[in-house]
Amino acid sequence: MITEALRLQHESIKANINIIDVVRHYTPLKQEGSNYICKCPFHNENTPSFKVSKAKGIYKCFGCGASGDAIKFVQEKEKLNYMEAMQWLATFHHVPLDNLQSSPSKQKNEQIRPSYIPKDIFYHSLSNYQNNNFVQFLHTIFDKEIVDEIVENYYIGTSTYYNGGTVFYQVDSESNVRTGKIMPYNPVTGKRDREKKPASNWVHSVLAIKDYHLQQCFFGEHLITENPLAPINIVESEKAACLASVWFSDLGIWIAAGGKEGLTATKCQSLKGRNVILWPDNDSLQEWQAKAKSIPCASIKVSTALFVSRNAVEGQDKADIADYISSPTARDELIDEFRQALIDYREDEHGMAGQWQIWEQFKKKGLRMMDRVQCCQQLINDKIFLPEE
Ligand SMILES: [Zn+2]
Repeated sequence: MITEALRLQHESIKANINIIDVVRHYTPLKQEGSNYICKCPFHNENTPSFKVSKAKGIYKCFGCGASGDAIKFVQEKEKLNYMEAMQWLATFHHVPLDNLQSSPSKQKNEQIRPSYIPKDIFYHSLSNYQNNNFVQFLHTIFDKEIVDEIVENYYIGTSTYYNGGTVFYQVDSESNVRTGKIMPYNPVTGKRDREKKPASNWVHSVLAIKDYHLQQCFFGEHLITENPLAPINIVESEKAACLASVWFSDLGIWIAAGGKEGLTATKCQSLKGRNVILWPDNDSLQEWQAKAKSIPCASIKVSTALFVSRNAVEGQDKADIADYISSPTARDELIDEFRQALIDYREDEHGMAGQWQIWEQFKKKGLRMMDRVQCCQQLINDKIFLPEE
């Protein structure tokens, strides 16, 4: 039921929003006359048949028939209801919310609270790691101590849903378990087991909890509040976050969006006031670059390291960051890209540039990556690098 107040809000948002910006948030647009055109974000196609009219504020796909205005677009794309979509637009596109907030609809009270996975089920699954293929894979590359640390830090669970199934729990900043993603892995290669169907499932779905109101958070979101000063690095896959947390712990904390589509406005609320680096996989660079502009954080960088290193792992066009960083040669090449992002990012801000100049000198002297890490660590421990006055 659309009340008069809601209708007014709708009009206000439409008047303030440029549908081109909204669509561009997800996919690059090309101007064609007075309209814009792109490949349809709602169905797979090779030639663009998705048209957007700035003047009319609407879109239409001539392939699948999808059509609507900016609000409808966000509803479909982010799987939100009408009110949530308006909130989304207000947050990501800075639409004045006066109308929305002063409305008598008590929008806040109407928001449905997220459901949580019962703690006993959660804790019970944090065990049985000898039957957890992902954890077994971790044992092939790390010492036991490090594996234990990853498993504990990220709340990795075991599920019998697949033989050797792994659960990546999404624990929010208040230690509530929003859900868990259950995935099958190959214990030797550490790659997803693509033979298994479905490719993944959710804890709340498998438990068949009635009326579950899923509100996802980042994988590793609890680490954000636990590390209030750390820069936040966001990758797509849970596996990548786990690996990077070991190899690149000095860059800050590592959390996962859970996929290309996973960088949603709701999740990004947890980034407020923080310094963020996005590490998109090579096929989602543009999409994440577009999203970066509207994430409400103190500062944001998008690393193109993976895009640049597209050919780092031969024959793997769709390789994700985890594939790159688990290959020792590619890792060595990539490390410099990572460092560069950090230098750009920290310079001026924290007075830590000196540390990275030394890093560069170590590199010129031909020190290998691990030795460089150790040397820098030593210098930090010895408090040789103090923030400049
Ligand atoms: Zn379409």
